[in-house]
Amino acid sequence: MTKYEVLKRYFGYSSFRTGQETMIDAIMAGRDALGIMPTGAGKSICYQVPALLLSGITLVVSPLISLMKDQVQALNQAGIHAAYINSSLTEGQVAKALRLAAGGQYKIIYVAPERLETYGFLQFAKAAPISMLTVDEAHCISQWGQDFRPSYQKIVPFVKQLENRPVVSAFTATATTEVKDDILCVLGLRQPEVLVTGFDRKNLYFAVEKKRRKDAYVMDYIRAHEGESGIIYCATRKNVDQLYERLVAEGIPAARYHAGLGNQQRQQSQEDFIYDRALVMLATNAFGMGIDKSNVRYVLHYNMPQSLENYYQEAGRAGRDGEPSECILLYSPQDVMINRYLIEHKEEPELLDEEQRQAVRERDEKRLWAMERYCMTLQCLRQYILRYFGEQAGPDCGNCSNCRQEFEEVDITEQAVQIIRCVQETHQRYGINVIAGTLAGSDRAKLRDYGVSALSSYGSLSHMTEPAVKQMMNHMLLEQDLAVTPDKYALVKLTAQAVQILNGERRVIQKHPKAAAQEMPEQMAARNSAKAAAMRRSDILNSRGLELFEQLRSLRTQIAREESLPPYIIFSDKVLVDMCVKAPLRKEEMMQVNGVGEHKYEKYGERFLEKIYTFGNGVREKYYFGGAGETTELFTQAKSVEKKVDFYLTNTQAEQFPYGQQYLAANLAEALNSLRDPKKVKKISGAEIYRMMQAKDYAYERKVDGKWQKIITPQGAQAGLFIGTRLSKTGNEYEDIYYNEHAQRMIVAEFVRHE
Ligand code: ADP
Ligand code: ZN
Repeated sequence: MTKYEVLKRYFGYSSFRTGQETMIDAIMAGRDALGIMPTGAGKSICYQVPALLLSGITLVVSPLISLMKDQVQALNQAGIHAAYINSSLTEGQVAKALRLAAGGQYKIIYVAPERLETYGFLQFAKAAPISMLTVDEAHCISQWGQDFRPSYQKIVPFVKQLENRPVVSAFTATATTEVKDDILCVLGLRQPEVLVTGFDRKNLYFAVEKKRRKDAYVMDYIRAHEGESGIIYCATRKNVDQLYERLVAEGIPAARYHAGLGNQQRQQSQEDFIYDRALVMLATNAFGMGIDKSNVRYVLHYNMPQSLENYYQEAGRAGRDGEPSECILLYSPQDVMINRYLIEHKEEPELLDEEQRQAVRERDEKRLWAMERYCMTLQCLRQYILRYFGEQAGPDCGNCSNCRQEFEEVDITEQAVQIIRCVQETHQRYGINVIAGTLAGSDRAKLRDYGVSALSSYGSLSHMTEPAVKQMMNHMLLEQDLAVTPDKYALVKLTAQAVQILNGERRVIQKHPKAAAQEMPEQMAARNSAKAAAMRRSDILNSRGLELFEQLRSLRTQIAREESLPPYIIFSDKVLVDMCVKAPLRKEEMMQVNGVGEHKYEKYGERFLEKIYTFGNGVREKYYFGGAGETTELFTQAKSVEKKVDFYLTNTQAEQFPYGQQYLAANLAEALNSLRDPKKVKKISGAEIYRMMQAKDYAYERKVDGKWQKIITPQGAQAGLFIGTRLSKTGNEYEDIYYNEHAQRMIVAEFVRHE
């Protein structure tokens, strides 16, 4: 089998995504490989396809039990023999799995790192043909990452004990250079193929909301996204519990997860969420590693996290299936204080000496500061993130809250000069709070202690509120007109640009959101973004298509219950959307749906076919909008479906036409379409037939009493068109054009192409 055949047969995909082939080719050529790709990019395929092509067994080291279970379930569903070995199994089960593995039963075996050095496992591995060792979530090996796992250091000694060194491949979504270098070095990869793909997640919408009433916002948001699955991250257990009580009281199916809950309860919550029994997950950052759930439609952050690394990882759990999803951060200045407190009181491993501790602290401060700026910036949020991770930023994305916001520009150079003077006057020894308080002329005990009221800049911006002054300073920080020291004191410093401003060589322009938008009440904001999200699946599917989608979704839920599997393991939302687009009525057509492989077809294909068939009464309707719009993968597919020739019939086909007494344009179209060759020929619609009649001057429209009415010309009447009454869906009578047999023959003749 070729890699393409493996991809189609087991995973149901017809082409590789960016980067996947590079990794697969390297591995197949016997090289080590490191793939750094964002969540949802499709890392699993990068090692699973080679695993099926290589002669021996592939071991996958994975940090979490839930992750292994999920992957193995998915593989088994695809008809691939895989198993996992970890502490969730009893000793007997482990022994049995190893026995089966030794007998060549499994192509892919997931294993916890702790397991590698156990006697039983080592015995097995030494005797078995191990073709590849894959390290999943490879950043766990780095002390720089937030998920450092000492047990990952057992990997290298393990490999050394094998007689034949297998290919070693490693994958992670963590992008920083420190982590990358660590992985390369600690794993001892040999002349590896290192692939770092773009970190942009185009299907995610990013937003920062500054809401005073966060609870209200969250409640509105969840209501506006009824039926969709989402995660809400909170900074503290208390927040989680409070919100949880509230949601449950309102009858919203929610689950919660934090370190204060017992093991069993956490397990239960996680499962409820994965199996779509609880749609909303309330959690601290303890939740999520290894959650592979692909249909998470939104991730809300109730509080600002400690770093963009954390934020992007958590937010990135939205939309793994590539469908439009939202990542919204609810910011309040208090979050910064909470985080600073957490950093200062962080438990540090004993092994750090004073210098190291200082370095860690500085790093954390820098990260927090970058996170805070993310919440403040008025630039494109996506660009901000990508630049932070060291990527070249492209043009504004148009799909974040800043890109969607209209701004007006205000020249604040005069105020900036006052701010700079104040920083100068205080010898760059204070933080933003003291400077802003001084400028606004506040009378706080702390300020009195510092004796700032004696300064000439005291109260020089007293016409402004203190938060407004802070906002200006933040803007100047973003523009690098000011800087802060990267320590917990965050002292404000002047930059070269500040000097230019003082010299009148540089102006400071601040952007403000246009007033109307700023005043938008909580609910409206929530609903607006909800509408934006809802718009997007419906960008692809028309109303019938959305109806069909719902039916397929409930069929999936039913099957999931029967099989005790998470719904998305059966088919992801994205696959269901593609089914609606392609509307298959036969097996070969179903196999064209992206994500339907042979094994899945055998198990579920017919039930889905049947649903689609009955939904359209055996007729293939068009359930999607073809045409311009975002070029999502689905659109490109939709367009390629459209790459057919315009409607025509052959002579023989035309002879089959079931002429009748009177047809509406829509009936005519349906009858015509049923005769064509659907593989090569596009459909014709009733509207197109009507336009044809207009072009022939057989009919036109005229406004009568404010309503458009269809009128038939004398030529039209002669050709066999006539006006009749029909009933609308709402029960009103209205007039429409009918076509008698004569007219039908004329129209059929229009479409005959002699071959
Ligand atoms: P990662 O591990 O990088 O976060 P996954 O391996 O979980 O990503 O893949 C994310 C989603 O993309 C999965 O639903 C997967 O089936 C899908 N996918 C992967 N490769 C392809 C492909 N070549 N074509 C279409 N879908 C793909
Ligand atoms: Zn943007």
